Amino acid sequence: MRRKPSPRPRRPGLAGRERALLVAVSVSGAAFLAAVPSMIRQFSSVLAGAVALVAAGVAVALVLRRSRRLARSLARSSARRRGLERALRERATRDPVTGLANRALLTGLLAGIRPGLTVVLLDLDGFKEINDELGHQAGDALLVQVAGRLRAALPDADLLARPGDDEFAAVWRGSAPADAAERALARLRPPYQVGGRQVHLTGSAGVVVADGQRTSAEVLRDADLALDAAKGGGKDRIVRFDAGLRTAVDRHRELAAGLRRALRDGEFELHYQPVVRLADGRITAVEALLRWHPPGGDPIPPGVFIPVAEATGLIVPLGWWVLGRACAQARAWYERDGVGLTVNVAAHQLREPDFVDRVRAALEAAGLPPAALVLEVTESTLVADAESTARLDALRADGVRVAIDDFGTGYSSLAYLVHLPVDVLKIDRTFVAMAVDTTLMRAILQLAGGLALQTVAEGVETEEQASTLRALGCEHAQGFLFSRPVRPDALEALLSGRLELGAARAG
Ligand code: C2E
Ligand code: MG
Ligand code: MG
Repeated sequence: MRRKPSPRPRRPGLAGRERALLVAVSVSGAAFLAAVPSMIRQFSSVLAGAVALVAAGVAVALVLRRSRRLARSLARSSARRRGLERALRERATRDPVTGLANRALLTGLLAGIRPGLTVVLLDLDGFKEINDELGHQAGDALLVQVAGRLRAALPDADLLARPGDDEFAAVWRGSAPADAAERALARLRPPYQVGGRQVHLTGSAGVVVADGQRTSAEVLRDADLALDAAKGGGKDRIVRFDAGLRTAVDRHRELAAGLRRALRDGEFELHYQPVVRLADGRITAVEALLRWHPPGGDPIPPGVFIPVAEATGLIVPLGWWVLGRACAQARAWYERDGVGLTVNVAAHQLREPDFVDRVRAALEAAGLPPAALVLEVTESTLVADAESTARLDALRADGVRVAIDDFGTGYSSLAYLVHLPVDVLKIDRTFVAMAVDTTLMRAILQLAGGLALQTVAEGVETEEQASTLRALGCEHAQGFLFSRPVRPDALEALLSGRLELGAARAG
């Protein structure tokens, strides 16, 4: 049997009031629910605000604490930095031994002084010897005492400095008291106690009064020049700078530049002075002598430009030019007349490692046999350097001969003559000039004879000198009596007999 579906259970029935209440509650619940998100948002933003506020407060507190700490540490570290900077500045500007200003500070001050200044540059005479003898500690102690004395002697100076090892400087803005340098030197003279010893010390001083137009380098250079002049003049002295001192330096610089140009532009030439055999008056050799006549100027003597060439090292290329040229010019004279060639060689050139090869190459290029060549070197060149001696020995093995030039003016010991690679002694003209008193010349000739060395007397100007030398047994001579140094064409004339020896006396 089919059962009849039972009716849905009905909700329990509500009274109308209850229903109204339920609707009200439902509406307000829904409204409430609808408002929740915005309430949450509002609440959370309030909360977030509060949290942020607290966090900010904490952060501010932290930052404040940190920054207080930072500030403290910054203050500490900038003090440290400033201290370090000061220390570095001190080191960069102060001499650590004496506490005086150093060269950097000195030049800085000199650069900034307008309109003028006075500098006294002092150098201690003989300090190096004392320092070597007593040791560096005692040397430093002595420098400290010197600094103290200079402070006491020159309280009015604007700056006291120790720009170099045993060099001190005092600077005044404008002019200094006239007796400043004298006061300083006087203070230095009383004895010092160092390392349990009493030592004596003097100083030399160069004084410069400069206007504001000069650079600090120029002022110091002038002070150096004056100081050099003081030291050169016998120490414990004062020299005040004047333009004459500077001229020498400018001249040196000018000559050096001129030499470079002359080498480049081929302004040099060679003159040749005959070397004559005294027994028969025959020319046996010629000495190549360098001549420089700058275009548009006066000739400059070798005594002036050779020292500059040596000081600048230009003597090396110049020397090679001389050797090459002289060998080439002398070949014909050697082949035709059996006349040898002597060439001056500077110490610098001899120290070149390829010296031997280059001499050989010059001979070969000119077709001149080694036996035709004599290299002239000075005593000091030979004595100073074992390697140079070895180089000369190598060339002697080829047949080249070596002469000592200006003998008697250099090294004072004669013992070295036995060991050195020498074949010829060229006796300096100062001995020839003394030929009236023949004692020295006789002794030199005897010495040369004992060592089987050839002799050439230099600077023979009179018949009397020539005959004295002949009588004493000197073999060869060179000098204005026979001929001045002459151009190659004049030498040709002498060699061919077209010109008589003695006719070229006047040059
Ligand atoms: P030195 O090698 O002793 O040359 C001899 C110098 O004496 C030459 O001077 C010559 O002119 C001069 N003289 C010759 N006879 C007489 C005389 O009877 N009386 C007087 N009072 N003097 C005389 P110079 O040519 O002026 O050369 C001077 C020096 O320059 C040379 O002395 C030499 O040391 C150097 N020199 C010249 N040419 C060269 C060179 O090519 N290379 C190097 N390194 N030095 C050179
Ligand atoms: Mg010579
Ligand atoms: Mg000479």
